[in-house]
Amino acid sequence: MNSSSAGRSKSHVALNQTPPLAGYNLYLADRCLDAAVEREGAGWADPQLRELGEFLGTEDAQRWGFEANENEPVLHTHDRFGNRRDEVVFHPSWHQLMRTSVEHRIHSLPWVEPRAGANVARAALLMLTAQNELGHTCPISMTFSAVAALRSDPELARQWEPPIVSATYDPRFRPAAEKAGILVGMGMTEKQGGSDVRANITRAERLADSREYLITGHKWFCSAPMCDAFLILAQAPKGLSCFLLPRWTPAGERNQFHIQRLKRKLGNRSNASSEVEFDGAWARLIGEEGRGVQTIIDMVQCTRLDCALAAAALMRQAVVQAVHHARHRRAFGKLLIDQPLMRNVLADLAIESQAATLMAIRLAGSFDARQSDERERGFARIATAISKYWLCKRAQVHVGEALECLGGNGYVEESIMPRLYREAPLYSIWEGSGNVICLDILRAIAREPGTVEAVIHELRQAVGADRRLDAFVASVESDLNSKAQRRSANGVADSEGEARILAERLALGLQGSLMVRHGSAAEADAFVASRILRDYGQAFGTLPAKMDVQSILAAVIEG
Ligand SMILES: Cc1cc2nc3c(=O)[nH]c(=O)nc-3n(C[C@H](O)[C@H](O)[C@H](O)COP(=O)(O)OP(=O)(O)OC[C@H]3O[C@@H](n4cnc5c(N)ncnc54)[C@H](O)[C@@H]3O)c2cc1C
Repeated sequence: MNSSSAGRSKSHVALNQTPPLAGYNLYLADRCLDAAVEREGAGWADPQLRELGEFLGTEDAQRWGFEANENEPVLHTHDRFGNRRDEVVFHPSWHQLMRTSVEHRIHSLPWVEPRAGANVARAALLMLTAQNELGHTCPISMTFSAVAALRSDPELARQWEPPIVSATYDPRFRPAAEKAGILVGMGMTEKQGGSDVRANITRAERLADSREYLITGHKWFCSAPMCDAFLILAQAPKGLSCFLLPRWTPAGERNQFHIQRLKRKLGNRSNASSEVEFDGAWARLIGEEGRGVQTIIDMVQCTRLDCALAAAALMRQAVVQAVHHARHRRAFGKLLIDQPLMRNVLADLAIESQAATLMAIRLAGSFDARQSDERERGFARIATAISKYWLCKRAQVHVGEALECLGGNGYVEESIMPRLYREAPLYSIWEGSGNVICLDILRAIAREPGTVEAVIHELRQAVGADRRLDAFVASVESDLNSKAQRRSANGVADSEGEARILAERLALGLQGSLMVRHGSAAEADAFVASRILRDYGQAFGTLPAKMDVQSILAAVIEG
């Protein structure tokens, strides 16, 4: 066959295929996100959100996401002479993703621009980039979150914060003092325990009368090991303590931070997750010795917020891909989007994604408002756990169903759906797995009465809008009050076994309240009928027949 006839094979025509979803603005296409950003006081970030949304829709940005995952990071433990090297080499597309997120200050915006709405603006930026590629948001999120803990030690914050919040991405493996920008990771999980961090066995030995220590031990999961420093937990003489452990010592030598191997993971493949050993590694105490959990918890709250944002972003990208496919693919003489049962599935997925976005952005708003508002502080505390639990749980089934909307094409890597699917379980595992988060909700209710008052206040915001929701909210309130009373009398333990159902009801109440206030009539009705009244099956695509799916679907991809 000569080259001119090669493209004309009659048996090789690709018919009825969906064009790639490229060249759209991820932000402008998302009416729900755009409105939530405005409502929560971050309208000023509109130009930046539009710019990033536009860029992430380009073929270049999409390619980076694929390439960074197809070309996994490589560990070099030693150099050719046998000296320890402990470096991980990433694909250039990883660096492009990192550079873009750092330049957009997704790792630092609220710290450098502490104006009203800064956390909301950052949350929306994160939700956009997470739709394109999630792996690289791990170091972005940890770097952002580390500042919350570092600030408990003003001297350390003065020294380390400027390069952390810098908008320059500098991936060189050099001492922090020589770099234009640095990144920070986190090491809490050990072989014998992750959730139970008090079981840590890594030891911290104090260097003569100073806040400097030598750390000996290991971490079983240490993601993004090319970060410039890590916040870690280790046992000091007065108990579990928090430390800043840099990759280079203050004397400019490589710290005794040895990467043993990289994990072979289900997903999250662009990111490196390692096992590390500390062999007398130099570290600096943060906060008080013996109060490590209290010190690092501020960082953990921020990374939990980011897990909720990541889950909402996953659901958003999944439903956008599903609706796009259904608008182009034909079966049985009609476009899929015109098939009644597919419309039900897509509308149901859209409702879930919308409720997730509303919840995630409302949560981010409370991170701004909590600075000056006591009730918002209580709300941020408990809503972080509620949202982290529920959105991460829902993302796992949501993405699976969205993948099926693409049929066989959804099972193929180029569609992005397998990558979303593999990523989905992760956010429920790290930073507190599902059960641990639900127990945290019980702990907040028992020990911080302001959290109960705050969540009830939020639930009541929608009272009067829908009688079905009002009845549900009243029953959740009564649950909460009786649990709070029982707990103050008997401690947390007596209702641990019911913690998931309480978390779920709280989440549905909060989402219902947001949906009736901020969704369209059709969206709110579909949410309340299916999730609150439970006129609904176990799978997606079981919305009551009378729902107005037309308007729900029209809003998924605007523009
Ligand atoms: C890809 C990846 C990257 C990671 N990166 C990092 C990192 O950079 N830094 C870091 O510190 N960690 C990291 N982790 C670790 C992660 O945070 C832990 O895996 C997680 O906290 C759970 O700890 P574990 O694996 O030890 O499980 P366990 O603590 O053994 O828990 C196992 C299961 O038991 C449940 N459980 C635990 N206690 C209770 C209880 N009291 N009641 C009921 N159920 C309970 C948990 O919910 C979980 O489902 C990473 C994990 C993954 C998968």
